[in-house]
Amino acid sequence: MYKLDSFMADLERRNPAEPEFIQAVREVIESIIDVVNDNPAYIHTKILERITEPDRIFSFKVEWEDDNGEIQINRGYRVQFNNALGPYKGGLRFHSSVSLGTLKFLGFEQTFKNSLTTLPMGGAKGGSDFNPKGKSENEILRFCRSYMTELQKYIGPQTDVPAGDMGVGTREIGYLYGQYKRINSENTGVITGKGRGWGGSLVRPEATGFGAMYFADEMVKANNDTLEGKRIAISGFGNVAWGAVMKASALGAKVVTISGPDGYVLDESGINTPEKWDYMLQLRASNNDVVKPFADRFKVQFVPKKKPWEVPVDMVFPCAIQNELNLEDAKTLLANGVKYVIETSNMGCTADSTIFFLEHKIPFGPGKAANAGGVAVSGLEMTQNAMMINWTAEEVDVKLHSIMKNIHDSCVTEGTGKDGYVNYVKGANIAGFKKVANAMLEQGY
Ligand code: GLU
Repeated sequence: MYKLDSFMADLERRNPAEPEFIQAVREVIESIIDVVNDNPAYIHTKILERITEPDRIFSFKVEWEDDNGEIQINRGYRVQFNNALGPYKGGLRFHSSVSLGTLKFLGFEQTFKNSLTTLPMGGAKGGSDFNPKGKSENEILRFCRSYMTELQKYIGPQTDVPAGDMGVGTREIGYLYGQYKRINSENTGVITGKGRGWGGSLVRPEATGFGAMYFADEMVKANNDTLEGKRIAISGFGNVAWGAVMKASALGAKVVTISGPDGYVLDESGINTPEKWDYMLQLRASNNDVVKPFADRFKVQFVPKKKPWEVPVDMVFPCAIQNELNLEDAKTLLANGVKYVIETSNMGCTADSTIFFLEHKIPFGPGKAANAGGVAVSGLEMTQNAMMINWTAEEVDVKLHSIMKNIHDSCVTEGTGKDGYVNYVKGANIAGFKKVANAMLEQGY
């Protein structure tokens, strides 16, 4: 029999100073411990110890030259967490906050998220503490080249397929893919999120945001409700937020906020025009990591140094970074009448804020379910690359929509309590876990 406290104490002992990893594991173990203890096969094969230990971790030096001719040194990583279901799959994050503990938490989450998509993908994550803010185009190119010179030793289209995450968009994927190809002389689906002219899937850039909105649409329908007319707060202004605001508009909802490290934009008329969406892309491409110019450009309110969770809304979609919404924010949101929370960033809500929402029976879509649309379309990109064909945007979108609906339904199946309240956190964790754990058992040790 597993006991939560002793298992977690042992995990903390073996993974010191990695609070995000511990947080992510604890949330999963709390959800699945009864399922595990009910199945002797899980207990005597030590499934929890095995599923929480990454298969392999690479850490390497990345040297590059800045525009002043000075040599800079960063640390690069790839955490290959679990490949029971398919080749390792997961994004690369370039952000000053990146540490090994961050990437272990993200790789662990990715394993269950990828399982939920039902596509054959294992879980991984990688990245660097390189901070793209303020870097020139040439500096980014030189960094990506050096990073891939090391990373290419460990990846391959059947082994490990990276993609983008924070700080890594189509431009960076292009530079990374170019260097992989230069060294290995092969054109394969070794990385996803490629440009649409050279093997990328249509709808991949929009996929995480679209997927989160499809997931939210299923959540509201399950509550006999509709997205039509809903007032939404979104954080972040990157790729994920961009996809989410576009799909929210298409489904009749109104997004009133986006945010950056400098504060948030409050646009009461709604972020619902192609000009506004295009401007978000320009802002991101500028590498300045500020959102205020959006408010200046469209003459709407800017609230400096604050998060958007103080704005009264029906729904919130944290789309920026882990632990960006805390217990205080959760209390404010509830007092202001929030009805749904869709955690679109990976572990965007702190553990206590998640528990608070669940205790108050607020439908809460956890990141590993709600944001799985991005990696799902990455999986579809791998399929298209392997078949040497391109699907139309409609074909990809239909598949994405059906994957998100299935994920929602799996959460409902595994997470519905006696009172009818769907605990999507529990549902996602159980559904994601069972598939990975059963594959591990069937494959032996
Ligand atoms: N970084 C994204 C995520 O968190 C996408 C990963 C991928 O496409 O492989 O799921």
